[in-house]
Amino acid sequence: MIGQFNMLKVAKFGFYMFGINTYLVYDPEEKECAVIDPGMSQQSEFDAIGKFIDREGLKVTHLINTHLHIDHAISDNWVKGEYGVPVEANIADAPLGKYILQQAQSFGINGEFKAVEIEHALKDGDVIKIGRGELKVLHVPGHSPGSICLYDKEDGFVIVGDALFEGSIGRTDLPGGDHRQLIDAIKNKLLTLPDDTLVFPGHGNATSIGQERDTNPYLV
Ligand SMILES: [Zn+2]
Repeated sequence: MIGQFNMLKVAKFGFYMFGINTYLVYDPEEKECAVIDPGMSQQSEFDAIGKFIDREGLKVTHLINTHLHIDHAISDNWVKGEYGVPVEANIADAPLGKYILQQAQSFGINGEFKAVEIEHALKDGDVIKIGRGELKVLHVPGHSPGSICLYDKEDGFVIVGDALFEGSIGRTDLPGGDHRQLIDAIKNKLLTLPDDTLVFPGHGNATSIGQERDTNPYLV
């Protein structure tokens, strides 16, 4: 799936690991590209990302995690090695990155996982430039302490990680989760965006802020 907006394009890849959505956000003219939540765990998935980037002639300038749960960060170190970009995430998720191997083990995922280190800390209100476009960082904690969403006001979309889903919200039973905090953050940071803002979640289908405000049973 590729969404075409005024400035930036969004390519969505659905990968095997927990049905994770990995997004490439890029400027089709200036060719700069952000990899968001790289969830590749099989050779065919690495190939799919690499071939897309090559075919479009993109230069990867950012590697951003909405949060550091294993499914969203499992191939951070691969992207970092392949494209020479630092890991960008909120510092409150640093412990999750440090204990990525333990996260893998707790989900029964075999393999060698090196810790994911945050090299560029993102905080609420930061602006990330991608070619002519930009993503604004919104801190939306509760699913994890450092969960962030990435809002493109010009193009009218927001990448929300596991904070908000179509008809649902992120689970809060993992370490550092907080249900009340998540509900408050969604209401204050996401439901205040325009109704027609497209929502790209970390799992499942795209939705919109208006649809979730009107129909999401967790947000009434
Ligand atoms: Zn998560």
